[in-house]
Amino acid sequence: MQIPFLDLKRQYVQIQKDMDREVHSVLEDQVFVGGTKLSQFESLFANAHHQNHGIGVANATDALFIVLKAMGISEGDEVIVPAHGWLSAAEMVKLVGAKVVFVDVELDTFGIDPTLLKSKINGKTKAVIAIHLYGQICRIEEISQICAELNINLIEDCAQAHFSLFNGKYAGQWSKASIFSFYPSKILGAYGDGGAILTHDSDFAIQCRMLANHGGIAKNDHQISGMNSRLDSLQAAVLIAKMNFVYDWIHSRNKIADYYSENLEGVGDLKTPKRIEASKPNFHIYTIQTRRRDELKEHLERTGISTEIHYPSATPLTKAFNQNYLPKDFPVSFKLQNHLLSLPIYPELTIEELAYIVEQIKVFYK
Ligand SMILES: *Cc1c(COP(=O)(O)O)cnc(C)c1O
Repeated sequence: MQIPFLDLKRQYVQIQKDMDREVHSVLEDQVFVGGTKLSQFESLFANAHHQNHGIGVANATDALFIVLKAMGISEGDEVIVPAHGWLSAAEMVKLVGAKVVFVDVELDTFGIDPTLLKSKINGKTKAVIAIHLYGQICRIEEISQICAELNINLIEDCAQAHFSLFNGKYAGQWSKASIFSFYPSKILGAYGDGGAILTHDSDFAIQCRMLANHGGIAKNDHQISGMNSRLDSLQAAVLIAKMNFVYDWIHSRNKIADYYSENLEGVGDLKTPKRIEASKPNFHIYTIQTRRRDELKEHLERTGISTEIHYPSATPLTKAFNQNYLPKDFPVSFKLQNHLLSLPIYPELTIEELAYIVEQIKVFYK
C-alpha cells in the first residue's frame, strides 16, 4: 500500500461540480480583485468564527505583518513568540524591525508555556503572538489574562486552528487580532495562497484593510503608506465552495485523530497528543512523539507510508534566528524537534489505510 502524506486530488473529485461552478462564475464575471466574491467570503468566514470583521489578505504571513504594523510595532519594541512552531511570526516581527523574544512551549499543548511568559516581559514588550499549533488550542486563557493585566497586545496565529474551540470560544476570539492561513494543505485551503485577519475592533479592521490595500479603502484613496496584500476573487470563490464541506471534513479529521489515539497510546514509547480540559481541537496535523522518531519514520517510508516532521528545528535554533541560542535555552522545543512525527490525517483516508498505518507502527515496536 502507498499512502501519501496528503492527497488533495481525493478532495477535489468529491467537490468538483460545486467547485467548478464557483470558479466558473468568477471567469464569467471577470472581476479578479476585490468585488462581491471577496466580501461574501470575508463575511462568511468572520461570522462563522463569531467575529465582526474579516479582512482577506494574500497569505497568513502577510496577515501577521499587517497586524503588527497596525499595532504600531517597530524598532525598539519587543514581541514574544513561541520557540516551537512555524516561523512566520518570528519572521514578521523581525521584518517590522522589532526584536523577537522566544519563549519555550509546554508539552501538553505545544503552545507558549504561560508559567514562563512573565519572565520574558519587560517595558519594551508590545505584543505576544500565541500559535495554536496542529489545531490544538494553547493555554490561551492564562496567556490572555497575563496580556490583559500588563496591557500588552495579544495576537493569535490560527493558521492551523480553523474552528477549534476552547471553553466555548473559537481560536481567534481571545485576542485583538487573529490571523488565518488558506495555504492549500490547511484545514480550509485555497488553490494557491490566501489568508485572513479577524478582529472585533472596527478601527483596527479599517487600519488593517488600508495597510493591505495601498493605504486606503477606495480607489485612489491613500491615507497611509501601505502595501498590496489581497485575497483574490478566484481564491475567495474556492473558499466559498469549500465552506459547505469544511465542517464535515473537520469531523472526519477528528475521527481519524480519535482512531490513532485509541490505537497508538501506549504502543512502544509513543505519546499521542493530549487534549486539555475545555479544549475542542480540530486536528490539522496529528503528531506523535517517540525517542525513536527517525527509525520509525524510515520504517514507515519503507512500508509505503509518508510522514512529515513539524518541525525539524525549533525556530531559535534555525540558522535564520540563531543568535548563540543553545538547546538548553528551550528544552521542550528541542525535545519536540527530535521526537515529533506527523501521520497522514486527511478526511479521505480510508479505514483500510488507517488500519495499515497503525499495524505498521505496531510492527515497528514488536
Ligand atoms: C501555514 C502557517 C503560517 C503561514 O501561512 P501562509 O499563509 O503560508 O503565509 C503561519 N503560521 C502557522 C502556524 C502556519 O502553520
